[in-house]
Amino acid sequence: MKAEQQSLFELHPAPWEEDDAREQFVATLVFATGPAQVFDYLVPPGLRDRIVAGQRVRAPFGKGDRLVTGYCVRLENRLAGNRRLKPLDSIIDDRSLLSPAMLRLTEWMADYYLCAWGQVLEAVVPAGVRGQAGTRQTQFVSLPNHVAARLASLKFTPIQKRILDVLAGQTAPVAIGHLARAARCTPASIHTLHKKGLLVFQSRRVDAGELDALPAHPREEHLTLNADQQRALAAILSGLESRKHQTVLVHGVTGSGKTEVYIQAIQEVLRFGRQAIVLVPEISLTPQTEARFRSRFGDVALLHSHLTDAQRRRHWEQIADGRVSLVVGARSAIFAPTPNLGIIVLDEEHESSFKQDSAPRYNARDVALERARAEKIPLVLGSATPSLESWQRAQSGQFRLISLPSRVNDRPLPSVATIDLRNAYRDRRSRGAISRQLYLAMDATLKDEGQIILLLNRRGYSTHIQCPACGMVLECPHCAIALTHHWQQQIALCHYCDYQVKAPAVCPECSFEGIRYAGFGTQRLEAEVRARFPQHTCLRMDTDAMQKPGSHAAAFDRFRAGEVRILVGTQMIAKGLDFPNVTLVGVINADTALHLPDFRAAERTFQLVTQVAGRTGRGDRGGRVLVQTFSPDHPAIAAAVRHDYDAFAAVELPIRESLGYPPFGSMVRLVVRGPAEVTTGQFADEVARLLRTTLDKAQCTARILGPAPAPIAKLRGHFRFQIQIQASDGPSLRQAVRTATTELKPPAEVLWMADIDPLDML
Ligand code: ADP
Ligand code: ZN
Repeated sequence: MKAEQQSLFELHPAPWEEDDAREQFVATLVFATGPAQVFDYLVPPGLRDRIVAGQRVRAPFGKGDRLVTGYCVRLENRLAGNRRLKPLDSIIDDRSLLSPAMLRLTEWMADYYLCAWGQVLEAVVPAGVRGQAGTRQTQFVSLPNHVAARLASLKFTPIQKRILDVLAGQTAPVAIGHLARAARCTPASIHTLHKKGLLVFQSRRVDAGELDALPAHPREEHLTLNADQQRALAAILSGLESRKHQTVLVHGVTGSGKTEVYIQAIQEVLRFGRQAIVLVPEISLTPQTEARFRSRFGDVALLHSHLTDAQRRRHWEQIADGRVSLVVGARSAIFAPTPNLGIIVLDEEHESSFKQDSAPRYNARDVALERARAEKIPLVLGSATPSLESWQRAQSGQFRLISLPSRVNDRPLPSVATIDLRNAYRDRRSRGAISRQLYLAMDATLKDEGQIILLLNRRGYSTHIQCPACGMVLECPHCAIALTHHWQQQIALCHYCDYQVKAPAVCPECSFEGIRYAGFGTQRLEAEVRARFPQHTCLRMDTDAMQKPGSHAAAFDRFRAGEVRILVGTQMIAKGLDFPNVTLVGVINADTALHLPDFRAAERTFQLVTQVAGRTGRGDRGGRVLVQTFSPDHPAIAAAVRHDYDAFAAVELPIRESLGYPPFGSMVRLVVRGPAEVTTGQFADEVARLLRTTLDKAQCTARILGPAPAPIAKLRGHFRFQIQIQASDGPSLRQAVRTATTELKPPAEVLWMADIDPLDML
């Protein structure tokens, strides 16, 4: 009996057993929006030959089997389990949008930055690529062989004859538009033949425009590197042949020839037939940078924020096809789909613009490190003022440190002196932003045919509007921020939400008529320069003055040509520029960032003063820098004056260490916001409580600050509370935050976000 049963089963296996024995081809999907976990689907036979990991697909989801878009992140043959898998519906993309390496990188990002994988994927693949911008769905027509063979036996109109004649001479399908032109007919006649079943139509996406022409005229300008540069180059290339990852931190003063080192390292990598990515802050994507790379490399893809979706998609495809060897761009260029990457260079690595301030809140520097590690290639970080995070990693041996302590051709660093504003303030003669000492230096520079850069890191005319009678300060009704007076339009403007009102002539509170416009912004500085140096041209560069596309380039051209003698601006002019004729740099107020409630305030101040000082003395004529400050003895300012990064780090690092701040601990910042102050605050309390218990349970020693109102306690009508968590064990800290926040159910209209390794503390 038993034997009989067994043989029966062998002949007719029960359905469930059949499933067990059968292999299934399974696609694992991540949905672009919605749930964070991954889902398995069955790949139906019709899609098996076409599907690859990294493509987007449509799949039925939920009870109603609504079709939703997902990314295929994994494909595998698997023994069928008990659970019935739904089949995929269709494939969206012709090609894979993400290589296996990029899929792993995005998975790492989702894990590290505590966000959904799908959200990372959407951020990494440009919208223009996802939407196939600049391409058109086009019908291609062909004549099947079996039809061609019996054409002679059929009757046709002369037009139809022409169509078939054209097609008979083709080896590949012809675009319908081309065919209509060649056969001198309308598409309707072609459709008629198609309806008779004589033609085969095939739909395909094609590029609607011409490919961007790649100017290929590199000029071989082989500079002989000096000894320091050679050491740097050798260090970078040392891991190249052995295919070992290493990070080299190039700490080189401004003008020490860092960029030349990057260029020669990249040339070497390209000789191996591989590709390179250079990341620069958006602010450095000037025509100057572009010209420099274009003159040395033929095929450069320059990725900046002004590209159209179609241009971005074309660049992306050229990079993915390996037709471009060098990619230069701002932070998102770290996701360039280079199939054979050989090196990543990140210049001005200390810049906060490498961090994205919306989800996923990644730092391109840390993503670059992860990508370079995974692809076993060198990462080069360069800066005159490295972030303390990178500096500490170099000190601990994790990064290799290479110093370029002097400028190329033994050019001296500019001499930097401070002007004590406390004295200048007592001196009745100087009422404006420019002290007497600075005025005299400017006057001498102009007489000497030199050019001047004046830095003031504040936009607008007056930084606040105050009534001396009742003390009222005009604030934004939506943000806890003083409004800035913009003189040209006569408005009071919020720099956070763009709220504006007419600048009041009398105090809105007490009607006092002597309302004061206090504090200096770049507009007021410009007016003062024009008034005091009427015979010289002055140009202001800040986000207000540089709104039109191309205005940057035009302004720099005028300055380079010498047409403009005095350039006034915000940090926009502090970085990366190289103007040999600039012999004086004035910092109007070095303290603007010094007293912000941010543990990096000193570091930012040191960086800004050092960077702007680097804009002078780049030619043969030398240069000098005058720094106006109320705190000349502050370690950050004193060190910047002496170009002494080591001294700054030596003072600042112990402070960070004693407080457990980065680079000595990991930090997560949670911000809870909502339109109602009390409910928002209560929810923040609840989040903090939950975090405390989770961290305790995980035995993760952490310091939790808050909840407390954020430094900007109200923004765009939302009250903001922050919780700051620090721990020496970064992975445990992130894990605990993830655990504590997955179950969060905020009240209506209350939102929260977690920022890993935050740079913005306001
Ligand atoms: P950094 O990037 O450190 O600011 P750059 O690479 O821009 O420095 O170099 C500053 C200037 O010196 C540039 O004009 C560059 O062309 C020039 N330069 C760099 N290296 C050399 C070299 N080895 N010999 C001659 N000139 C050089
Ligand atoms: Zn506002």
